[in-house]
Amino acid sequence: MNAFPPSFGPTDPIPCDDDRDAFATVNISLVVSREQLRAALAIGHAEQAGQPPLPELDILDVRREVEGYLAAVAVIGTEQEAATARISPELLADLDSAIDRAYTRPERTFRMQQPLYGDGTVTLATVDRGEVTVDEPVWCTGHDGEPVGHFTDITHDGPHITAAVEALEYGPVPLLRANMTHAPNLEQSPEPHPVAYVEGLEAASFDAAGLRHLTDEGRAWLARIDAMAAELADLAGDQS
Ligand SMILES: [Zn+2]
Repeated sequence: MNAFPPSFGPTDPIPCDDDRDAFATVNISLVVSREQLRAALAIGHAEQAGQPPLPELDILDVRREVEGYLAAVAVIGTEQEAATARISPELLADLDSAIDRAYTRPERTFRMQQPLYGDGTVTLATVDRGEVTVDEPVWCTGHDGEPVGHFTDITHDGPHITAAVEALEYGPVPLLRANMTHAPNLEQSPEPHPVAYVEGLEAASFDAAGLRHLTDEGRAWLARIDAMAAELADLAGDQS
């Protein structure tokens, strides 16, 4: 076997169809040719009615298009086979037992939240306290799609504020990201008030014009982070 070419992704898990029960996330590493990549991107992008135009897709969007198209083809193929295949009860039992061996789920950690939102509250499942109803801050983006965890780990996350800048060798690359977050029940490092989570992301090279865009975008980002700092200060003041 030849050495494998460089590997990219997976970018985001590709969700299950809404009418199916999500059971396991299967990661595969698929070696493809440039032609296959081109075909997957062309068809995937055409299926999005060509929007946004290719030059405006950032690198992660390009990868999402390719991964999404390849996954969709695999899922559609599997569904078509399943619709026509006849599976005897004996075979079904053998299949299920092989799946249980190979895809054993730690039940308690892989249950997904099905949050119930109330007036300023949210009801969440926990592995240690069952269902709990907690305050839901207005800035929280919600808890759908989160795994069920411990009560102390309940975290509210605000929307991401990202500085994405056009770089020399790529399209726009996300350089900095911040969001407001609050885990009010943490015991080890308590968070009495919301905090800001700040991340530095991709590295990239810039020419002079690119650098000016970077400083513009950086200033705009910092202005929004300043506003976030003021909001955090307000929230801390309100609660103390
Ligand atoms: Zn929340």
